[in-house]
Amino acid sequence: MICLDVLKDGKRNAVAVSFDDGSFDEEVVRIFNRYGIKGTFNLITNAVDPGDYARLRRLYQGHELACHGTYHKSLDVLPAANINLEIFQHRKVMEEIAGCPVCGLAYANGRYTQEVIHALRAAGIVYARTAACTGGYQFPEDFMRWNPTCHINAGHNGVQEAAAFLKAMEGYFSGPRLFFAYSHGHEFQGRFERLEEFCSLIGGNQDIWYASTMELYEYVTAQRSLRISADNRLIYNPTAVEVWFSCGDQIYSAGPGQTVRL
Ligand SMILES: [Zn+2]
Repeated sequence: MICLDVLKDGKRNAVAVSFDDGSFDEEVVRIFNRYGIKGTFNLITNAVDPGDYARLRRLYQGHELACHGTYHKSLDVLPAANINLEIFQHRKVMEEIAGCPVCGLAYANGRYTQEVIHALRAAGIVYARTAACTGGYQFPEDFMRWNPTCHINAGHNGVQEAAAFLKAMEGYFSGPRLFFAYSHGHEFQGRFERLEEFCSLIGGNQDIWYASTMELYEYVTAQRSLRISADNRLIYNPTAVEVWFSCGDQIYSAGPGQTVRL
């Protein structure tokens, strides 16, 4: 029977790390690059000088830029029309910086409502990360309520959680695992060796897919879009993303637009 339990390149485990507010990101990016971790950086654009866009684009190269808000307002207390200013106008600035569509978001202050989600979808946002840590490794059913695994900072730098994840990778497999940590650069200010300690433990593992949150969203969304014949022998991938899946002990992949016959 076909199971959608395989991630990119046949891997079963993924790590994503998301940093908010754009503070001290030079240090964060330097450490991520050293340990092969791909970050998602959720910026606030009110204070960003247009003269700084090119430098920022270079800084975040190889990582994902995502929305956080023009002014870092809690979206649940904004009149719906102001979500246009806080998010839609913000997206335009983010896209000037990134040079590509920016459709991910982290909720400022972790706050949202169902109405906010409607407004965000209308503003072109496709996934949104919360600040509600689960301690778990499951992918979300609803990507507009994407709860991370844990929050890390200089005091509590996530090495215990990272060690637990690495241990879980050796144990019984019940489904693909995502370790999803979030933080802010300023939470490691003056103590970036604490972030380095975390990254050296969780980074550089060939059994882990180091992905941006957008890459994870795109992959899982594509995987959920596979069309599988009732007898499980024909698998059609209607998307533009290569997708892996299992059947019994075997792992297969279906390229963009490809039909695989088992
Ligand atoms: Zn924030």
